[in-house]
Amino acid sequence: MSGSVYNLHNHTPFSDGAYTVDELVEAHLDLHLDIDGIGMSDTLFRTPSSREVSNERDFERVFAGETSAYLAETRAAAERHAGSIRVFCGCEISWPLNKNMLEPMRRMVSGFDYVLFENVDWNGLTTLASQSRRWPCPIGLSHTAVNVHFPNTSQDQVVRTMANARIFYEVNSIHVPLLESDRWFNVLPQHRVMVAIGTDTHDDLHCLSEIAPMLEFVRRKGLTDRMLEPRPRGDAVAAE
Ligand SMILES: [Zn+2]
Repeated sequence: MSGSVYNLHNHTPFSDGAYTVDELVEAHLDLHLDIDGIGMSDTLFRTPSSREVSNERDFERVFAGETSAYLAETRAAAERHAGSIRVFCGCEISWPLNKNMLEPMRRMVSGFDYVLFENVDWNGLTTLASQSRRWPCPIGLSHTAVNVHFPNTSQDQVVRTMANARIFYEVNSIHVPLLESDRWFNVLPQHRVMVAIGTDTHDDLHCLSEIAPMLEFVRRKGLTDRMLEPRPRGDAVAAE
């Protein structure tokens, strides 16, 4: 619980983003919003279609190198900008593409600050919930429209599942304009679900202009003290 302001959803050329960490830092500072930190959430573990990976050992062999290179690169950037803004190392993982490789992925993201899962269905959420505390860092759902992604599950059940498993929810700029009447954003504040703000920055920095309205909305909903503090789980446990 930080109350700090972070934008945790940015892609860089490491995956499919157009702007480097340095450029993203500058663009966020130019907003003059007192943003405390930004997170890199490059898409990792994209199975090359030319060589489908069928077992965990191959999966780890294919992806371990790039995963640790990404972590090292992002940590180096964090050091360069330590005086002005915090830079976190997260990643985004496609649930449908990688749901059978959870164990090797958990090993490989050791040292990361957070993980975002995208396109998670109800089966996926219950699977993640059953093992969320075994991940080395907080895990959350990126740009999820709860009524669309979980059409057959009540929002109360979704929010309770997320709260119990400590799976965080990302308020994403694709949800802007955020509506007062949206039932999910009235259910969410009633449960202890941590919240992140994300713009899913790829090749257009205009999305950063949505940070201010998202922050305003999150504050209005009383979620300010629910903002996720991204960090490897070991630290989080020690601090509790
Ligand atoms: Zn993304």
